[in-house]
Amino acid sequence: MENGVYAGVIVDQVHPMVDKIFHYRIPENLREQIKVGMRVKVPFGTANRKMEGYVMQLDSSTDVPDDKIKPISKILDGYPVIPENMLPIISWMKEEYHCLTIEAIRCVIPPGLRRNTRKKTERVVYLNDIDNLEDRIKTIEKRSAYMADILRLLAQNDELFLDQLRAATGAPLSSFKNLEKQGLIRIEHHEVYRNPWKYEYDIGKQPEVLTKEQQEAISEIHRAIGKGYERFLLQGVTGSGKTEVYIHAARKALEMNKQVIVMVPEISLTPQTVERFKNHFGQQVAIMHSGLSVGERFDEWHRIRNQQVDIVVGARSAIFVPLQRLGLVIIDEAHEDSYKSDMRPRYHAIDVACKRCELEGAVLLLGSATPSIAQHYTAQNGEYKMIYMKHRIDNKPLPPVEIVDMRKEIVRGNRSILSGTLYNAMSDVLRKREQAILLLNRRGYAHFVSCRSCGFVLKCSNCDISLTYHAYGKILKCHYCGQNYSYPAICPKCKSRYIKHFGIGTQRVEEDLKKLFPQARIVRMDMDTTSAKGAHQRILSDFREGKYDFLLGTQMVAKGLDFPGVTLVGVIVADTALNIPDFRSCEKTFQLITQVAGRTGRGEKGGKVIIQSYQPHHYAIQFASRHDYSGFYEKEIRIRRRFCYPPFSHIIRILILDENEDRLIKQIKDIENWIRHRIEQNHILKQGLIDMGAYTAPLERINRKYRWQILIRIKTEALFKQAYHRLMDECLDMFSGVRQTIIADFYPVSLL
Ligand code: ADP
Ligand code: ZN
Ligand code: ZN
Repeated sequence: MENGVYAGVIVDQVHPMVDKIFHYRIPENLREQIKVGMRVKVPFGTANRKMEGYVMQLDSSTDVPDDKIKPISKILDGYPVIPENMLPIISWMKEEYHCLTIEAIRCVIPPGLRRNTRKKTERVVYLNDIDNLEDRIKTIEKRSAYMADILRLLAQNDELFLDQLRAATGAPLSSFKNLEKQGLIRIEHHEVYRNPWKYEYDIGKQPEVLTKEQQEAISEIHRAIGKGYERFLLQGVTGSGKTEVYIHAARKALEMNKQVIVMVPEISLTPQTVERFKNHFGQQVAIMHSGLSVGERFDEWHRIRNQQVDIVVGARSAIFVPLQRLGLVIIDEAHEDSYKSDMRPRYHAIDVACKRCELEGAVLLLGSATPSIAQHYTAQNGEYKMIYMKHRIDNKPLPPVEIVDMRKEIVRGNRSILSGTLYNAMSDVLRKREQAILLLNRRGYAHFVSCRSCGFVLKCSNCDISLTYHAYGKILKCHYCGQNYSYPAICPKCKSRYIKHFGIGTQRVEEDLKKLFPQARIVRMDMDTTSAKGAHQRILSDFREGKYDFLLGTQMVAKGLDFPGVTLVGVIVADTALNIPDFRSCEKTFQLITQVAGRTGRGEKGGKVIIQSYQPHHYAIQFASRHDYSGFYEKEIRIRRRFCYPPFSHIIRILILDENEDRLIKQIKDIENWIRHRIEQNHILKQGLIDMGAYTAPLERINRKYRWQILIRIKTEALFKQAYHRLMDECLDMFSGVRQTIIADFYPVSLL
C-alpha cells in the first residue's frame, strides 16, 4: 500500500505526557494527499478536542484496536511543513538535548506558522491598453487631478504597487475604483515576499587579488565540497580576510549546484558580513534571524523551500532552513556562545550543523581568530582539518598593545577611570581627528572581590575559581564547591584596605568621559542604546561616517567591525571577565581582548591598543597583548587538564528555579539523592562519574526566583555520555510533575 492507512502523529502541545506518537486513521479522501511532515487537525483526548499535530510516519497497520482509533480531521497547509531531511535531526535533538519532540519540530517548521502567518498579498495596478491615452488623461484631469496623476505615473511604469501609487499621488482609493470601472486600469492581488533588507551599509571596496593565504584556504575547501562530510577550522587573525574566503567557498559550492548556509553570531552585530554576502550574491541570498518580523521570516522560509535561493545567511536558527542540496555550512566567529540556544530546546547550532552536514554529506567550515579551547583541542585531535591565516591583508602588522597597570594609578592618586596613558592617547586621537573604540567589559562586574592596590583576587582554595560576593550576609562563596568564606577587611596579600567588589556601568563611564573630554563627540553602544530596531546599524554607520570621535560600548563593539579610521582601542578594565566564577573566564577574556584589539590598525594610519588592568601579569592578558593564541592555548589546556575541566571532563547542569527557597532546597536534595542512588546502582554511571553536587547558582535569584543547580562532572568517553543521557531522561521523567522549573542542560556554555 502506497501511503498507508494510519498516520503516527505528534500533537502540538508542550507536555511530557503527550510526547509520543499517537495513531490515527487516514480517511479515504485524504489518503492521496497526506505526506509525512504535514500539519493536521486531530481529535484528541477523551473530550476529542481538535488539536494540531504533525504527521511523523505513515503505516499500513497499527496496534490500536479498530474501535479505538480516531480519524484525522483535516490536513492543513497542503505541503509538508517539516522538510523530510529534518526528521532525523528532530529525533537526534530529542536525545541530545532532552527536549520534547514537539519542541524540536517547532525549530524546523516555517517561522510564525503556528500564529497563522500567511503569505502576504499586495495590490498591483496595471494600465490597460488604451488608444489616445494623452487625450483621455486631459479629459479626466478636468474632473479629477488625482486620477490623471495615477494614469501619468502608470504610463511611465506600466505597473506599480497600489500603496506606492497612493503614496506618490495622495489619491484616495475611490479614484482607483473609478478608473477600474472605466476600464482604464486593473488591480490584481499578487503574492509577494516581504523584503527584510532595509539597511544599506557601506562595506568598502572589494578586493581584486586574493592573498596567498586566502587562495590556499579556498582551494583546500574547494577540494572538499561535494565529496561528503568534512570539517574545517579556519583560524585566521583579525583582519586576515576570512569573509573573502567564505564568499569564495560559497561561490564554489554554488557552481557545483550545492547550497550554502552562512551563520553569524547575532546579525544585528555583524551587518557588514551580511551585507557583503548580499553584495556578492544578490537575490540568491535569504536572511533569517530574530530581528526580522515573523512575516518576513515566514516569507524567507518559503523562498528557501521553493528553491528560489541558494544561500541563507542567518543567526543560529538558520541551521534549520529547508535547503535540499546543502553542500557547505560556514560558521563565522565560531567561538561565540550565542550559537547556543538559551531557551528550550537548548541546542548548540554548531553541533546541529555537524549533525546536519554528516547526514547530508556537506562540508562544515568554522572560522575564528580565537577558537574556543574545546574547538581547538578537538581540531588538534584530528576531527577538524586546520587552516591557518597568520597574516593580515597587505601584511599589515597586528597593532601594538600596551598594558597599563592600574594599581600604580591608585598609588599615584589617580582615581579616574582613565590612566594617564589612555587619557593622553585619547587626546591625541581628538587632536588628529582620528577615531577610538573604548570597551567596557561589564560581564562579571560586582561579582568578584579584588584588591585595588595589588590586584589580588580572592579564589576558592579547592577549585581555583573566583569567589563571588553576596551582599546578603556579606560573605564570599565558591559556586563550584559551595564553600563559604568571610569577607576580609584587608587584603590577605598586601594588607591594603582597598579591597572591594567592583561595580561600574557604561553610562557612568560615558558621563566621566564627557567631563574629561568636553569637546569630544561620544556615542555609547550597549543594551540601553540599541534596543530600538536598527539602532545598531545607525550607531555603527554614523561612527563610520565620522560623526563621532569615540565609540564606547560593551562586548558589542568588540566583534567583526572593520573601520579603517580607528587608530586607538582602549579597554577600560580588562580583568572583569577573568573573575566570573566559570572555568572559561580566562578563555573569554583572552578572546575578548584579542577581538577588540583587532578592530584597529586596519587603515593607512595604523593603530594601537591600550589595556588597563589590575592584573597586568595575568597570562590571559599577557598572551592577548602579544596576539599569541598558541601560547595562551598551551597554558590554558594544561590548567584544564590539571583541574579536570572540559575538554577533559564533561559537565552536566540541572538548574532548578523556585520562588520558595526552602521548597527549592528540599526538591533539589531529593533530585540529588535520587541521582546519587542511581549512580550507586549502575557501575557504568559510577565509573564515569568524576564528582557531583548541588549548589546555589552564581546568579542566586533572578526575577524573584531562587536558583540552585546540580553539577555532574563526568569522563568524556562516549560510553559514559550515553549512560548519563539515559540517566537524564529517566530523571526528567521521574520529576516531570514537580512544581519547580527544571532546566536540564547536557551541554551548558555557562554555569551562572
Ligand atoms: P577578518 O574577518 O579576517 O577579520 P575581514 O574579512 O573583515 O577580515 O577583512 C578585512 C578587510 O580586508 C576588509 O575590509 C576586506 O574587504 C579586506 N580584504 C579582504 N581580502 C582582501 C584582499 N585579498 N585584498 C585587499 N583587501 C582585502
Ligand atoms: Zn570551590
Ligand atoms: Zn592587596
